[in-house]
Amino acid sequence: MKKGLTNLYARTGSDFSTIALESTAPLSHTVRKLSRHIYEVLLDGELIMAPDTVNIYDGIINTISVSQKNGDAQVSILLQHPSSCRLKQVRGIPNRLEINFDRAFLKQIMKEKMIVIDPGHGGGDSGRRGYINLLEKNVVMHIANYLKAKIIDAGGRAVLTREKDISVNLIDRLQAARLLEADIWISIHTRWDRDKSKCGAGALYHSKQGELLCRYILEEIGKKLKLENNGICEESFSKLAGFFETMEYSIPFVTIEVCTISNPVEEGWLRSPVFKERAAQAIINGIARYFDSCRYEEYKNITDKFPHSL
Ligand SMILES: [Zn+2]
Repeated sequence: MKKGLTNLYARTGSDFSTIALESTAPLSHTVRKLSRHIYEVLLDGELIMAPDTVNIYDGIINTISVSQKNGDAQVSILLQHPSSCRLKQVRGIPNRLEINFDRAFLKQIMKEKMIVIDPGHGGGDSGRRGYINLLEKNVVMHIANYLKAKIIDAGGRAVLTREKDISVNLIDRLQAARLLEADIWISIHTRWDRDKSKCGAGALYHSKQGELLCRYILEEIGKKLKLENNGICEESFSKLAGFFETMEYSIPFVTIEVCTISNPVEEGWLRSPVFKERAAQAIINGIARYFDSCRYEEYKNITDKFPHSL
């Protein structure tokens, strides 16, 4: 039997993202860290599986590519955030080489952050209705619950503006951000269009700070769910201008329209728990990128002001 790599898969835990490389026999390996975000693993065995690039986007691992180089299998791993890795051989049939990337950097970014998640609509307000009768108020609730669990798992804090199928007025939804001293307020909705062929995700920002967050979340939805990006718009809550004027601090207020419920294909996806869980993962990936960029900005401000002190 040929000695080589037959299969790979990834799984995401709370503390580690793990890549499992299955082979016909134990393979000796060399790990090279090419940068903070790129690792390469060279295996002493050929590539039996087809060359492939697998999209993961779990907040730490972005993609894994396998190829053949000089007769040996090579695995390239692209990370979203820096992470250290540990390898473990698990002998058996098939043999498994596990590469564990710690998720500490992500937890550092999310630590103590308070995110108010607003599942749109509720109660008598069902939101939009899909072609096969799926209701927006229900699917956004599912996505919001997945998102909350993921934020808490990553070390952040999250509160929903409604836990049940009840109506809540906009001012109360927004007030939650003030009362909880939130770092982000994010409302979850779906898109709707009279034209059933229209599809994809969109985002609105209601405060200036939300523009970058919208961009990151839409990019992550595009990468993870391969959905069309309908772009970002500014939408001021003009009736509530007073609310924003009295905010003692400014944070991103955004609405994410995860996909288009009026498109029968995307409505079908919204029935799948796997799709909704993946949508929540894409949103938290965007949130983590946003917080990471804020940290960089803070650092840049300090170094600009005191160039010789660091
Ligand atoms: Zn809506």
